[in-house]
Amino acid sequence: MPFDNIELFPMTAGINAADHLTLGGCDVADLAAEFGTPLLVYDEDTLRSMCRKFLNGFTSRYSNTMVAYASKAFLNTAIAKLMAEEGMGMDVVSGGELAVAIAAGMPMGKVYFHGNNKSPQELEFAVESGIGRIVIDSFNELSMLDEIAGNKRVVQDVLVRLSPNVDPHTHAFTTTGILDSKFGFAIETGDSARAIRQAIAAPNLNLVGVHFHLGSPIFELKPYADAVNTILTYLAPFREEGLDLQEFSPGGGFAIGYTRDQPPPEISEYADTIATALKAKCAELGFGEPMMTIEPGRSIVGRAGVSLYTVGAIKDIPTVRKYVSVDGGMGDNIRPALYGSQYEAVVASRMSDAPEEVITLAGKYCESGDILIRDIEMPVMEAGDLVAIPSSGAYVPAMASNYNLNPRPAIVMVKDGSARIIRRRESYQDLMAMDVV
Ligand SMILES: *Cc1c(COP(=O)(O)O)cnc(C)c1O
Repeated sequence: MPFDNIELFPMTAGINAADHLTLGGCDVADLAAEFGTPLLVYDEDTLRSMCRKFLNGFTSRYSNTMVAYASKAFLNTAIAKLMAEEGMGMDVVSGGELAVAIAAGMPMGKVYFHGNNKSPQELEFAVESGIGRIVIDSFNELSMLDEIAGNKRVVQDVLVRLSPNVDPHTHAFTTTGILDSKFGFAIETGDSARAIRQAIAAPNLNLVGVHFHLGSPIFELKPYADAVNTILTYLAPFREEGLDLQEFSPGGGFAIGYTRDQPPPEISEYADTIATALKAKCAELGFGEPMMTIEPGRSIVGRAGVSLYTVGAIKDIPTVRKYVSVDGGMGDNIRPALYGSQYEAVVASRMSDAPEEVITLAGKYCESGDILIRDIEMPVMEAGDLVAIPSSGAYVPAMASNYNLNPRPAIVMVKDGSARIIRRRESYQDLMAMDVV
């Protein structure tokens, strides 16, 4: 049975005879009973389908494309294995993410290391592990990596991250490709030119191409085309100085639907825009068509994840606001508090109940800012109701904390009517496991 915001939920979502939400053929009330709440549920079919949509969507328009999952959106060993099975590459932004990629058997040639301040230890670890590419983001990193690679008698393939000064019109905290940014070498200041020249000259580095990433989530198509055009035009003269553009990475940032009034573009539209711009500009400027690496994170895992909570305290402050509190909040999903991110929610245990009142869905953390959804129309809820928040798969468990010493939730993967734990719920013992008395 369809419901009116079903497109925000995983592709397998439905409603069963008990009027409960189902995901991957599992009744979410059964999942809550078996695994407890808060609970994060990932739908395996949606995850795999999103990988394939990106792989097919891009390679059908630009055959020489590598799709690297930007693992900071959510990484654990099970997810990394799934990405490897689907033929995805992987972006990592820390030694920790790299360690998980290695443990999961990710092919190292398809792993890219990003970040604006990689430590010497992280760079050594990356070079030793035979990582495919390191994306250089600062002069400090450039000279340090050249030295590290030299000491290990390795010539490391690298990209440089350029900042094209294109505004993708997203939240200031998630905009990365404008001049005022800690990411990348700015074209305007001349830093890009110096970085390209230094990378070409570095004896232990092999500059294979460039990367940019505009920010996230980007609901517009034009910023991608603008940035492709700006950067290729900018790069053309560097060919005389030895630049061989074998690779080109327009990053990630592809949007997903969080609320029904802001639907994202189709993946095919992003692919069309980027492939068309890249082909046309390469032809115009006489570049051979480079390999393209795209780096979706949010758009791979976001829709696949649904957060489940149980309603507890309800406080009605007449003429002001009605607070309905759940058993999670900013510790398991900090996005509303951090970026003002918006979500929708359903009462997963009474799916056909009509919305009747405007409430504020609050968390259980000791911060007034711990609000999951402000002013949402919901059916009248009572303690014990199960609430589901869709589009919770990206930057949710990845940013979870133990604030207030709440154990972080369990994560389960559902498929064809069965559920398996991919991360167990933390225990109070876990919370003290690193303490030294
Ligand atoms: C975060 C990031 C991405 C992925 O962004 P999404 O919005 O999750 O697709 C891709 N590339 C780089 C360099 C990033 O930092």
